[in-house]
Amino acid sequence: MSNVIEVDNLSTRFETEDGVVKAVDGVSFRVRSGETVCIVGESGCGKSVTAMSLLGLVEGTSGLVTGDRVAFGDRDLLRVSPSELRTIRGHEIAMIFQEPMTSLNPVLTIGEQLMEPLREHLRMSRKAARARAIELIGRVGIPRAEQIFASYPHELSGGMLQRIMIAMAVSCGPQLLIADEPTTALDVTIQAQILDMLRELKDETGMSILLITHDLGVVAEMADYVIVMYSGKIVEEGEVSELFERPRHPYTQGLLRSKPVLGQRAEELYSIPGQVPDPLELTPSCYFHDRCAHCMDICTRREPELKTLAGGQKVACWLYEPAEVETHG
Ligand code: SF4
Repeated sequence: MSNVIEVDNLSTRFETEDGVVKAVDGVSFRVRSGETVCIVGESGCGKSVTAMSLLGLVEGTSGLVTGDRVAFGDRDLLRVSPSELRTIRGHEIAMIFQEPMTSLNPVLTIGEQLMEPLREHLRMSRKAARARAIELIGRVGIPRAEQIFASYPHELSGGMLQRIMIAMAVSCGPQLLIADEPTTALDVTIQAQILDMLRELKDETGMSILLITHDLGVVAEMADYVIVMYSGKIVEEGEVSELFERPRHPYTQGLLRSKPVLGQRAEELYSIPGQVPDPLELTPSCYFHDRCAHCMDICTRREPELKTLAGGQKVACWLYEPAEVETHG
């Protein structure tokens, strides 16, 4: 399977009044053709900033994106011109966000907004774009497509709006869909429908998905490959079955233990003790050491590198040596 995108050593830092915040710190990963890769972690771990950095959406803020390369086909997204990146965005790589209401323009009809990428990227005539937009509304499971085409965003429910965002994202046949917490703001039943639809569209079109979520239920449903981030770094990654069966990093183990089980009482729910460290106060160490039951002296003094274990899973933790397969915790 070929790689759709290869990210090497990506970093994003923000200048703040209190100092420099490294939101993403030396992250490398790849997404293969037709694969779903999930980036998982708590709020503030850098997963959304990673996605935005790939598409140049941090530019214009106080953020600075650097890295060795972000290879997409024969182009390096860190080095293409802003106009070429605009062409790639929404056409070859599409993105959907958590809050569809804030992503759509409230003063334009759904139809106008669906036609825009078709006219801009595929140079469709107004008539062809209209027909395709109506077809797409039906494809994402919304009845009365012509009526919805003429509606404004405030006339639709959250679930319908997210379907429209997905229709817009896939309208130009992207190779990669980046979905940032696409179901977080929706009811559980609607979440399941949206995930089913994303899977169907992926199978139909062969596109790859980079899915950002804090929800391990979504990861279990969707992922082929999982990347766990903590404080701007990748701390573990691997095939979904392996990672769920044998999580190596104490943070991944804590995340999986925090997942509610049917019939479990609220007081029995596990939560990882402590908080994500202040990004302005990070020292050379394992950034999880304050919260880790296995913390050793070296963890407070030296940062563990991401090592590949036997079987291919990668982990950044001093408990493991490369090619070691013992589990801990
Ligand atoms: Fe825990 Fe040390 Fe591993 Fe960090 S490096 S997760 S503190 S054992």
